[in-house]
Amino acid sequence: MAAYASCEGPSMAHCTPDKPREECGVFGVYGKSPGVDAASLTYLGLYALQHRGQESAGMATSDGRSVVIHKEMGLVAKVFPDEVLSGLGGHISVGHVRYSTTGSSRVENAQPLLGRCKYGPVAIAHNGNLVNTLDLFKELEAEGSVFQSTLDTEVVLHLVARSEAQDVEEAVRGAARRLQGAYSIIVLAGDKLMAMRDPHAIRPLCLGESQDAYFISSETCGLDTVGARLIRHVGPGEMVTIDGGGVRFSQAVPARRRAVCVFEFIYFARPDSEIDGVNVHLARKRMGQALAHEYPVEADMVIAAPDSGISAAIGFAEALGIPYDTGLTKNRYVGRTFIQPSQTMRELGVRIKLNPIADLVAGKRVVMIDDSIVRGTTSVKTIEMLRSAGAREVHMYVASPPVRYPCYYGIDTSARGELIASNHTIDEIREHLRADSLCYLSLEGLIEAMGPLGGELCLACLDGRYPVELPDAGAGHKHVLERCSKST
Ligand code: SF4
Repeated sequence: MAAYASCEGPSMAHCTPDKPREECGVFGVYGKSPGVDAASLTYLGLYALQHRGQESAGMATSDGRSVVIHKEMGLVAKVFPDEVLSGLGGHISVGHVRYSTTGSSRVENAQPLLGRCKYGPVAIAHNGNLVNTLDLFKELEAEGSVFQSTLDTEVVLHLVARSEAQDVEEAVRGAARRLQGAYSIIVLAGDKLMAMRDPHAIRPLCLGESQDAYFISSETCGLDTVGARLIRHVGPGEMVTIDGGGVRFSQAVPARRRAVCVFEFIYFARPDSEIDGVNVHLARKRMGQALAHEYPVEADMVIAAPDSGISAAIGFAEALGIPYDTGLTKNRYVGRTFIQPSQTMRELGVRIKLNPIADLVAGKRVVMIDDSIVRGTTSVKTIEMLRSAGAREVHMYVASPPVRYPCYYGIDTSARGELIASNHTIDEIREHLRADSLCYLSLEGLIEAMGPLGGELCLACLDGRYPVELPDAGAGHKHVLERCSKST
């Protein structure tokens, strides 16, 4: 899901994250009997997917006939207190967590979206971003559609509602044939729960089962949380339909070359999740090992930029036989949307989130492993903190290639001008960070670390090769080989 409103307003700190931001997580439940409490199970699933979006949460539930919906701005625990959850009856549900840019951060843009049409009430939750939203929006508006939100998800709802298909399943397939871009979508309609993944399978989506229910989740950690086992990941262009007759698979749109978002593995997904057969923590460890093999370094200690650099740092330290330790502690009570209203606050902001253990790093040659660098604002302050804590040398090693191109498929990577590697050489970045050395993993090393998925990845923000053609393909296909810089 993405909104086509732009980033605006005074809190621009929201709009220029120092890490790419996932925009959504989806979770669906189909109880095998009417007594199953779908709302409570969805609450647990959304809780597990909270890292995929912290600005709003919502769910729609159904008893097979009528649908109730509740959505609000805020974290899952705040949006669904007991009294709200107990009012959401039914054994079928679809839920959503969302991150948005500031300009579109309002409750009308929270999901699921619910509409009523000839197929009855239809609720849709979407993770990803369509690249032909504006064309579809103009076409539908010209035909008389009225839009309530600025979400591309609403375009999908209108396509379903305007379908002339006999049944809602075919209407959803017909809508999918009009979509271009990245989408993992869950649709609740009447007594059916349907889920679809785009033809390249860019965003993750999996199907699970427990004794009482079937589940659809963005990540397997959602299935684990409700005690479900993974049946399998939804394939490229595939649709899963669950109703009283059980589970059916169909090909909604022809499958294209699989291009799973590599950033799910580098940064977004939870380390305990498995996506398309590859465990996220183990993939990150292999990225760290590959980085160690590419750029061996002499150092006293390996530390991680918490938390997303931890798995790679363990792999890196193991590969070189250097001790791994917790050089930086993270305050876990600082929300991701922490606002820094003044320059002084911005300066101190990183200190509020991260603090070095001075007794540990003082006098040491430290290698800090991060999963990625987007703008470099956090890295520069972290390195400064380590130096003022007494570190003798600080080497910054990054377990992914430089992020040089923006994402159009549902990840907020910042605009290209804000990506530090897009307009600076590695030498310039190292100097800016004041690191003794700065080394990035190669694209080849990353691909190898991804094991069986290595040839089936979207790498567009790293190499500029976009798997789905963009209406305005501004990015080139420049292949930059420079990846490491050391101070002389
Ligand atoms: S461009 Fe990057 S962040 Fe976007 S889907 Fe592709 S790999 Fe993921």
